[in-house]
Amino acid sequence: MSSPSQLSAQPPSPARSTALTDIRSESRETLASRFGGPGIPSYRLDQLLAWLYPHRVEKWDEMTNLPRKLREELAQHFGLELPQLIQKQGSHDSTQKFLWRLGDGNLVESVLIPANPDLYGERADRHTLCVSTQVGCAYGCRFCASGLDGWRRNLGPHEIIGQVLAVERWNSRSSGKPDDAQAPAQTPPATSERLVNNLVIMGMGEPLANYDNLMQALRTLNAPWGGAIGARKITISTSGLAPRIRDLADDPLQFRLAISLHGATDEVRDRIMPVNRKYPLAVLTEAGMYYVEKKGKMITLEYILIAGVNDSLDEVLPLSRLAHKLHAKVNLIPYNQVEGLSWTRPEESHCRRFSERLQAEGITATLRIEKGHDIEAACGQLRLKSERLTPLKAT
Ligand code: SF4
Repeated sequence: MSSPSQLSAQPPSPARSTALTDIRSESRETLASRFGGPGIPSYRLDQLLAWLYPHRVEKWDEMTNLPRKLREELAQHFGLELPQLIQKQGSHDSTQKFLWRLGDGNLVESVLIPANPDLYGERADRHTLCVSTQVGCAYGCRFCASGLDGWRRNLGPHEIIGQVLAVERWNSRSSGKPDDAQAPAQTPPATSERLVNNLVIMGMGEPLANYDNLMQALRTLNAPWGGAIGARKITISTSGLAPRIRDLADDPLQFRLAISLHGATDEVRDRIMPVNRKYPLAVLTEAGMYYVEKKGKMITLEYILIAGVNDSLDEVLPLSRLAHKLHAKVNLIPYNQVEGLSWTRPEESHCRRFSERLQAEGITATLRIEKGHDIEAACGQLRLKSERLTPLKAT
């Protein structure tokens, strides 16, 4: 058996907020290779993983069934941190927006969306968490708050995973009701019960521009020893990074794909999504068709309806042609107002007409009445924040 000091045998992963690689950025295989030899029985790895994921600990001392010496060795070689909650906002429809401080002081947001609002004292039966993958965004879609102040950095795997664990840890500290923001911040988790059972990778940032870290995080969140969230319950969204869509198609895991299309012609997409100049619709469509062929499953086209930009009924035909080609369903989302941007939301009656025309063309289309827009938690409303502008409290 190897001695615990062999935990240091491998080089740390890329630069992060602290000098040490966070242990949640390591795969099970990598950790197993450090636990395999003489000195540490392999069952310790299972104990360690149980503390990291189902129990979501933030301190080595919480791992009470690991020998003190091993905890000390681990602490010397790995970081162990979860995003710190600095603000929580609750929408009238039970959507919750969390603002987190990362280890280096940067801020990111996640949004928890109950499928059925927990009204009348009943708990919501299903929870979707929308997570961020970057601090800011470099893609600069003209209608989106996230790219307004540019891109700062990619999130590490542990920071993507950490958003899920921190929401669940916060929930287990509270009375069990997801709208309780007053629970003491330092109480250890009372239960390892899961809260999040659907993930959408649609928060701040272009997920596929942080491909390797995202995939590492999702493998952990999908693993039975990790987040235990089924691959089919995980949807990755992209503004149209065609080569990465092909990479995703070649990955053995069955994650779902959503393309943020927002325009069915190059003319419209060029106007509102700079990424289209690099990967125009013909290239994007081919990548999408490759994905559908390899995975054999339906994709989703997200289409934010913006008044006077892409909501003309003339857009219905090109959109339906694209959707047919990609065997895709279409999610129509009336535009959510972003402070500082002049775009506006079409009348609801017009959105309904657009949706009906699309359905008349044989497309499965849903008109998504967004949750959380009153707290700027809806699609395209997550904005790069700085602590200077942010009150340090749960609201
Ligand atoms: S829509 Fe997505 S890719 Fe475009 S700027 Fe916003 S976060 Fe970035």
